[in-house]
Amino acid sequence: MSDVTPSSAATLPLVFDEPRGRRKPPRHLADLAPDERKAAVSELGLPAFRAKQLSTHYFARLVDDPAEMTDLPAAEREQLVADLLPELMTPLRTLEADRGTTRKTLWRLFDGALVESVLMRYPDRATMCVSSQAGCGMACPFCATGQGGLQRNMSTAEIVEQVVAGARSLTRGEVPGGPGRVSNVVFMGMGEPMANYKAVIGAIRRLTDKTPDGLGMSARGITLSTVGLVPRMRQLADEGIPVTLALSLHAPDDELRNELVPINTRFSVAETVEAAWSYASRTKRRVSIEYAMMRDINDQAWRADLLGDVLNSYGDWGWVHVNLIPLNPTPGSKWTASRREDEREFVRRLEAKGIPTTVRDTRGSEIDGACGQLAATDA
Ligand code: SAH
Repeated sequence: MSDVTPSSAATLPLVFDEPRGRRKPPRHLADLAPDERKAAVSELGLPAFRAKQLSTHYFARLVDDPAEMTDLPAAEREQLVADLLPELMTPLRTLEADRGTTRKTLWRLFDGALVESVLMRYPDRATMCVSSQAGCGMACPFCATGQGGLQRNMSTAEIVEQVVAGARSLTRGEVPGGPGRVSNVVFMGMGEPMANYKAVIGAIRRLTDKTPDGLGMSARGITLSTVGLVPRMRQLADEGIPVTLALSLHAPDDELRNELVPINTRFSVAETVEAAWSYASRTKRRVSIEYAMMRDINDQAWRADLLGDVLNSYGDWGWVHVNLIPLNPTPGSKWTASRREDEREFVRRLEAKGIPTTVRDTRGSEIDGACGQLAATDA
């Protein structure tokens, strides 16, 4: 990760590397690519085709009770489950809002680390918002997760398991609206996904691999949100998986962005937006610019104009759209959400410059399940 270590690391409360000497999460089927699963099963002295059967249970049938794996001989089943389907996380608490269609789950990982995921069901889709790290090292001062620092990276399987858990509750009809599927995944829970790049790419592969190798989701339904780790954005463009990229910009000028998104002292607005544009050009996927509206901080009309100009300087071929997020105030934060009229003016100015702009709904805010509120306190 040396390529993203800020030169001014000594003065910034940023943590990129995990503390050493920690135990790793147990290995799980979802950590492994299909070939690796076969190898793992053979190492147990079992026929390699068991790998496919186990994958079918986990990814296609969403089974978590070994008793339902009746096509596996009992003795082998025990061995396979113990070795490849260890319990990765236990739900500590689930909070519901929006008549049960928004559900936030607090998970305890094997080492006691706490993370949260949020399931949001809409009439036409169901979105899982997942965490990619326990805590976060990016230290954005308006974000609840950013206040506690990074505890550790999550494993590929820990990330995937959040989606599988949501998929299970939907297929089992536990969410109002009848049985359904997860159609979208957003990496907008706790953590900076680009700072846990390898595990996140593994998770995206498991989500998009055809069943039963993976969950068979469309890459277009997956959004990776980042503070803008420029080398990783470029690397993502090389992966050939057309996920949607969301860039948390929050300010169009370096002076303010240095404060709101401290990694900006390492990668400037210009470098970061250029990398986003380059991702859009290469993948032909429209990039989303995230902009949390903070009253009298970043919501001035002149900043809307500047944002429009910065984005348009890379062309107006529809490579970008802006998603304004009403700030969800977090405990201890000195910032509040913008006034309605300032928000409207901001939208108007961006649209006048030809930038498609949306204002995000604040689902789950009353259960602290909205963007930036995930703090995983077990109070
Ligand atoms: N680390 C990634 C994912 C984090 S959360 C990233 O920064 O993009 C997803 C989005 O929620 C980011 O755009 C983040 O800046 C935003 N966010 C964080 N705290 C917020 C808050 N209090 N109110 C509104 N949005 C917030």
